[in-house]
Amino acid sequence: MSDYILTTQNLTKQFKGFTAVDDVNLQVQRGHIHALIGPNGAGKTTCFNLLTKFLVPTRGRIFFNGVDITGEKPAQIARRGVIRSFQISAVFAHLSVLENVRIGLQRQLGTQYHFWKSDATLRQLDARALELLGEVGLRDWADEITVNLPYGRKRALEIATTLAMEPELMLLDEPTQGMGHEDVDRVTALIKKVSVGRTILMVEHNMKVVATIADRISVLQRGAMLAEGSYEEVSRDPRVMQAYMGT
Ligand code: ADP
Repeated sequence: MSDYILTTQNLTKQFKGFTAVDDVNLQVQRGHIHALIGPNGAGKTTCFNLLTKFLVPTRGRIFFNGVDITGEKPAQIARRGVIRSFQISAVFAHLSVLENVRIGLQRQLGTQYHFWKSDATLRQLDARALELLGEVGLRDWADEITVNLPYGRKRALEIATTLAMEPELMLLDEPTQGMGHEDVDRVTALIKKVSVGRTILMVEHNMKVVATIADRISVLQRGAMLAEGSYEEVSRDPRVMQAYMGT
């Protein structure tokens, strides 16, 4: 098996002639935490939308585990194990923390679940949900109504619901956005922990987080790949410094 779990070839997205993602060749190594960074408007979100087929590329190809998935629908891609963690709106605010993870597990089982829905199945699902909540440090919050969770804990819940979908590749959208230092540190450690045996591609603005956990970094600027490498490499790159200084 190739070292790369995800690669893109000349991935391009144009909106009415404006090129938001420009000939991007991305290579995400299996087992890595790979950060996608770049100034606002660089094309990071568009890239994520292309990888999950929320947007259709104008040009280029996407390969997952060596298979060309460019023509596949979002649900097919998710079934392959490419799972994107959504922002808080994706969790159901008025359900309990446990119920949210159970829904993730039911989604993963898909139609099979309807055939053997029983008390025993529900007990199994809840046991697995509690296990996942334990993994993200939310075991004690299982019965809490989600809306009452502190912000940082909601992001941990999102990670738990993503784990419920059995991701091989997790796409994390700015996982520490809007957090105070303590939550940032907690979520950073959590990402590192759940990365074991999985691959993570994340859009992240917080350079401390990137420096702490990213094995590799791709820097986008105006839709194109500006630089790639370790944190040490990209942070020393004059082109990257210039992009971030806005000069
Ligand atoms: P980032 O996530 O790096 O901040 P985005 O991917 O959101 O950047 O946006 C890249 C560029 O593409 C921006 O200039 C943005 O205005 C433009 N863009 C994104 N989505 C659309 C769209 N649906 N229609 C037109 N332009 C878009």
